[in-house]
Amino acid sequence: MHRLLIKNIHTLVTCDDQDQVLHRVNLYAEDGVIQSIDHCVMDADEIIDGTNMLVYPGLINTHHHLYQTFTRNLPQVQNLELFAWLKTLYQIWKGLTPDTIHLSSLVGMGELVKYGCTTCFDHHYVFPNGISEDLIGTQFAAARELGIRFHASRGSMSLSEKDGGLPPDSVVQNVDTILQDSERIIKTYHDTRAFSMAQVALAPCSPFSVTTDLLRESALLARKYGVRLHTHLAETLDEERFTLEKVGMRPLEYMASVDWIGQDVWFAHGIHFNKTELKLLADTQTGVAHCPISNMKLSSGICPVPEMLTQGVPIGLAVDGSASNDGSNLLEELRVAYLLHRLNSSAKAPSGYDILKLATRGSARLLGRNDIGQLKPQKACDLFMINQNRLELIGATYDPKNLLATVGFKQPVDYTIIQGQVISKAGILQSIDEEKVTYNAHNAVTTLLQKEG
Ligand code: ZN
Repeated sequence: MHRLLIKNIHTLVTCDDQDQVLHRVNLYAEDGVIQSIDHCVMDADEIIDGTNMLVYPGLINTHHHLYQTFTRNLPQVQNLELFAWLKTLYQIWKGLTPDTIHLSSLVGMGELVKYGCTTCFDHHYVFPNGISEDLIGTQFAAARELGIRFHASRGSMSLSEKDGGLPPDSVVQNVDTILQDSERIIKTYHDTRAFSMAQVALAPCSPFSVTTDLLRESALLARKYGVRLHTHLAETLDEERFTLEKVGMRPLEYMASVDWIGQDVWFAHGIHFNKTELKLLADTQTGVAHCPISNMKLSSGICPVPEMLTQGVPIGLAVDGSASNDGSNLLEELRVAYLLHRLNSSAKAPSGYDILKLATRGSARLLGRNDIGQLKPQKACDLFMINQNRLELIGATYDPKNLLATVGFKQPVDYTIIQGQVISKAGILQSIDEEKVTYNAHNAVTTLLQKEG
């Protein structure tokens, strides 16, 4: 048994139901599960001094495309909106290999961890023709190496250009292949136990890249195995025009028609919902992953987060893929989300602490987890710590709940702890050889980009 004690914590923001902020407490965990947060001093195998530390629950990322870590900051797409951006990038992504998936997963999740993220959901939907290896398996392997809690998805695309969709034939699969592989991945990797480090969701890519039968069959398969459903929705007006033209329905109406609604479903973006649709999301507890930086970068619009919060729509926070971000820093996303809604909604905007709760409790809810997202006994010991005794935080620490979103923290955190293990310390990943991964990843990016010339 591994026993961890974080001693004499200056300030601990619990994000619990009472929104408690505790001072001068000791947090004690056994095998990655918090046993006590109080003034008792326990014996432990590993003791960390919390004297100057601000401690927060680990951040939870609810939407990503880790492979895009290798296609960020590309000049040819900087001015484009979603559809044109995708069409350009598909031509590079068709060159993905198991090696690029593995390395980009390590790089993207490594960056997330350095900035306080302890659980990552990834939406991988590019399965290039001719690649028969288990790409999702390589992602789970990367997550295990790093020590991050990982929710993968079996994404998919089944509607190619020749059938009226957006992606080229080279990255599209038929429905039977997708469903068989989805079932295999659920059976192989989906672990439903408490404090699980590995779970699976099914995630056909978007209304304009998948067929109606794939949506319907995926929903049936997900419910057979009790896994969650995820896709992009209401991201752009182009998408809305697409579904109106092809199926005669608005995007959410289309999803409802194929049984893609309910508390086991969450959508990435959720920008272009009308009032009736927001009410339907709230009534059915269908969730939304809010990705502010990506939405700003691609000029997609602003997710109506204040209205969603008022109505009770479940919301989590996410970075989205690195080609539209262009990074994997959920801590940065907190501040951008806060500022975006201040600009757009003034007094109705969520507070900094509201945004922190989206990235912790809200995100945990979207992933169907009640064992992460808050710090209290019998929850996972997933947290990050910031030494408050630094010049950049002078005058900012009297309101620790709001600090991360209003002031922001713009460097790697001092500790990221996942399931009771120190995974990042002083900005250095402890579980992998960061220098070697960086070297290999640089080379793999060059190879990938050279394929397309
Ligand atoms: Zn996305």
